[in-house]
Amino acid sequence: MAVLLDGAAVKVYSEPKGRCIKCGRPARVRLLYARAWLCDEHFLEYLREKVARGLTRYDMIRRGDKVIVAVSGGKDSMTLMDVLSGLSTRLGIELIAVHINLGIGDFSQQSLSAFREACKRYQGVKCLELDLKELTGFYLPDLLKAVRRPACSVCGLVRRYILNALAVELGASEVATGHHMNDIMAYAVKNFLGQNLEQIPKLGPVVEGEESAVRRIRPLFDVYEDETRAYAIIGGVPYTSAVCPFKPRDSMEDVIKRMLETIERRSPSLLISSARKMAESLESYPRSERPMGRCKYCGMPTSREVCSFCSLTQAIAGRPLGPEVRSKIRDIAAKLALMR
Ligand code: AMP
Ligand code: ZN
Ligand code: ZN
Repeated sequence: MAVLLDGAAVKVYSEPKGRCIKCGRPARVRLLYARAWLCDEHFLEYLREKVARGLTRYDMIRRGDKVIVAVSGGKDSMTLMDVLSGLSTRLGIELIAVHINLGIGDFSQQSLSAFREACKRYQGVKCLELDLKELTGFYLPDLLKAVRRPACSVCGLVRRYILNALAVELGASEVATGHHMNDIMAYAVKNFLGQNLEQIPKLGPVVEGEESAVRRIRPLFDVYEDETRAYAIIGGVPYTSAVCPFKPRDSMEDVIKRMLETIERRSPSLLISSARKMAESLESYPRSERPMGRCKYCGMPTSREVCSFCSLTQAIAGRPLGPEVRSKIRDIAAKLALMR
């Protein structure tokens, strides 16, 4: 029988092979880490409820919150958008899905189409497209030509700045990203190996707002990557599998992720218990002591005189772009408020 997903934590067969523990009907989803079979319908429900429990367990959101969901168009953030849109009424939260067009050729085209498709599907979610070139005058490949820094670090910095600035203007309570447990734990192991222990608290389910203007939350903190993939396949979630051409091949994170999969296959559920223990012991890790202030150009929080976005753009454009970007985002936020 064909196997649609042959993961360390979840397997999905093309046809039923077991009985659903909820309803007894034929089931094709095997949760290896929970030693359970689920039918398609009950798997989708299981994952939604698992995320809902995580939101409560880690105190990620409160009734009345305005939550920005950062959506890349890939399976993880699209699954997140699907799950949160299904829970939003019950949880009493307002969702604003935001996609940033980074202008990375075909990859960005496909990401944008997937996002647009999702916006048609989830009618209750407000959708917002931001264009990096309209905001800064540059797309990501132009930025990368001008600085000698790893692509993912420039991209992450730019995206974080834009999402933070938007959250400030919209008065959003938090920014939710689609990071899942496998990625988070791979970063944690990498930071452990380098003994950058003060980075580990930043990998928790919630990062409080002093560092980034608003709270950052990771609702998929205790969700296996296999689960997001299975959810996207079974739930028919629109997403793109396009891979960013700037993503380094065989990065240290990739190697560590594969190692963690091997460990999970040997000892099912080890990764989830480790992630949950880490979430409970974040207080015991050292934290960087640098006091937070405001960027002298754009006013966004930073531990230096000039924020990393303003210093990056100063090197590229000859002037810090923070103030211009913030004012454009202010206009966009005002228009979005009028659309209500
Ligand atoms: P990555 O750094 O590509 O693994 O992405 C991590 C998370 O950042 C994703 O799960 C999304 O929540 C968010 N993200 C990535 N790319 C974009 C984008 N182009 N627009 C909005 N959010 C994004
Ligand atoms: Zn069932
Ligand atoms: Zn700045």
